[in-house]
Parts: sequence; structure tokens; C-alpha cells
Amino acid sequence: MKHLIEPTDLTVAEIEEILSLAEDIIAHRDRYREACKGKKLATLFYEPSTRTRLSFTSAMLELGGTVIGFSDAASSSVSKGETVADTVRVIRCFADIIAMRHFKEGAPLVASQYAGIPVINAGDGSHAHPTQTLTDLLTIRREKGRLDHLTVGFCGDLKFGRTVHSLLRALSRYEGVRAVLISPEELRLPDYMQQELAEGSALEFREVRRLEEAMPELDILYMTRVQRERFVDREEYERVKDSFVLDPEKMRAARKDMIVLHPLPRVNEIARAVDNDPRAAYFRQVENGKFVRMALIYTLLKWAGENRPLECTPLFSEPYSVNEMRCPNPRCISATEDVDRLFRRAGEGWRCAYCESRPE
Ligand code: ASP
Repeated sequence: MKHLIEPTDLTVAEIEEILSLAEDIIAHRDRYREACKGKKLATLFYEPSTRTRLSFTSAMLELGGTVIGFSDAASSSVSKGETVADTVRVIRCFADIIAMRHFKEGAPLVASQYAGIPVINAGDGSHAHPTQTLTDLLTIRREKGRLDHLTVGFCGDLKFGRTVHSLLRALSRYEGVRAVLISPEELRLPDYMQQELAEGSALEFREVRRLEEAMPELDILYMTRVQRERFVDREEYERVKDSFVLDPEKMRAARKDMIVLHPLPRVNEIARAVDNDPRAAYFRQVENGKFVRMALIYTLLKWAGENRPLECTPLFSEPYSVNEMRCPNPRCISATEDVDRLFRRAGEGWRCAYCESRPE
């Protein structure tokens, strides 16, 4: 059973297959109107989301399938204390595929171990957001014509920004990609990610503290919101929230063919005046999200029907250990639910398989 928990669960060839299918869907919408007729998607959203949930819903409806689910934890049995494992064991009797968003890091990975039907991670804590990554990749491919030999600026909240973590990982598998990491000191890309990119990939990256420094060299500027809900310290949020604002003045220093992406929602990190600039691609990006989710749902259901074996999964393609170590991250699913404590080897050390923290 193939799931999508992290972007690297898909090989580069599989990503290519999904992006090409998304482009075919865009070109021939009518051909796919009944492609998932009779199939049900369960959207299990334990954390608020409008865009992603509605994008999944409209994707399944446009494929001729139907959708069940809930849109916040309060209206699910989690409010009665049910575990993720039990919830998905119930849902598998009602649906063919699951899209799960959860505030706990690693919850979709737990779900994938018990569901028996394909599970798509629709965002887990500040960990990963692979369908946003597919959206970003499709947008880059449609706007720039390629996924390699690009200089990409990542700006804003690189610490908690799960979309940034997932896109960096995905891009690190293409040739000639350079990343410029633009953030305040407090919101730097986590050390584990920096180490992983430095040791395990050909991606070149450097950190800068001012957007102006990076602007002229970028093919893509990936803006992000400072995520208030992930801060424990309110004062720290207030201090950094307005660190970077993209405005027409800064856009003047950019290349004529640079594009601006943003996973949305925007707060004030992109001035409204930038919206009319043809280089602002963030609303085109939203539409691509629906098409790529159509392609993903269709493909995972097809693979499930074929009993396609797993090709790369973080749990089984590397050495792993069970129950011998403890994850120190309070946002990890292993902190609150009775799950096997799974750790996978990463370079010289071990990382929690759910949230990637180093063990205690
Ligand atoms: N929509 C994106 C996410 O779910 C970005 C954000 O919320 O700022 O991670």
C-alpha cells in the first residue's frame, strides 16, 4: 500500500508521473469526470484548514467520487479520547482513501500503519505538507518549464514552515538547485534540516538575513507566513512577525521572469500591491493544487488496486529501532498516544520516525 506521508515517499519518477497526469487533467478535464466514480475520500482534519480541505474535496468531486469527514477535532471522537489508530481503523470501513491533517507531528504516519487504505498527509504540525509540495512543483514546472537548475529564495518562517521543509526536501533531488534561506535568526531552518541537506543532497544553500540581498539572483521567491499558532512565546512572535514584507519596491530588484509563490494564507508578508504583478503566481498556485490532488488521489487509488509494493518508505527502507529510545518533542504524536516509539537511522544518529527529533 502506497501512502504519501513525506514528499520523498514518492520517487522522482513517481512525482513526474503525478505531475504529468495533473497536466493531462488540466488539458482534458472531461476525460476524468468519472475517474473515481464509486470511491470515497475521508477528509480527517484535526486542525483548521480551508484551502487544503476544500481543495481535496473539490478534487474528489471533480473525479466523480464522494467525500466524508470532519473539519475540526472537536467534532470527531478525538474529543472523547479516541486514538488516531482507532479512528482510522473505523474510517477504513467507510472510505477508500484518507486525507489527514493533524496538529501532532507524525499522526498521518501512525494512521498509515493502521488504515489499510492509502493515507495522504495533508499537513502534520510543523513537520511536513507533501501535497502543498506537489502543488509547488506543478506550479514551478508550469511557470518555469523545469524543476532543475533553479535558484529559490525561501523567505519568512523557515523554522515552523512545514511547506518549506517539504519543498526543500523535494527540490534537493533535482540537479543544480540552489536555495537562499532568508529568515530572522529566531526562525532559521532547523539544524536537522540544514544537516540533512548539507550531508545528504547536492542542493547548495546559504542563509541571509535581508530579502534585498537575495532578490536579484532568484528564479523563484517562496514567501511564507510567520505562524502565530506554533509559537509558545507570544513575545517572540510579536518581535518577528513583520520581519519581511515583499512590496513593489523590492520587486523592482527582481528578475523580470522571477515568480513569487506562497502556500497561503497570507497575512501581511506580501503587500496587496504585488498581486497585480504578473510575477505573483500564488493564486495560480492554488488552482494547481486542486489538479495535482486530483492526480494524486487517482494515482494512489490505482496503485492500491494494483497492490503496488512500497518503494521507499522511511520506516522500512532504512534501519529502524522500536521502543528503545524516547522522543523529546512535545508536539510529536508519540508524546500523547500509545504508539510504538519508532526511530530511523539518519546519517550517524537516530531520528524519531514521526517528527524527526533526535532521541533523548
Ligand atoms: N497553508 C500552509 C500550511 O498549512 C501554510 C500556512 O498555514 O501558513 O502549512
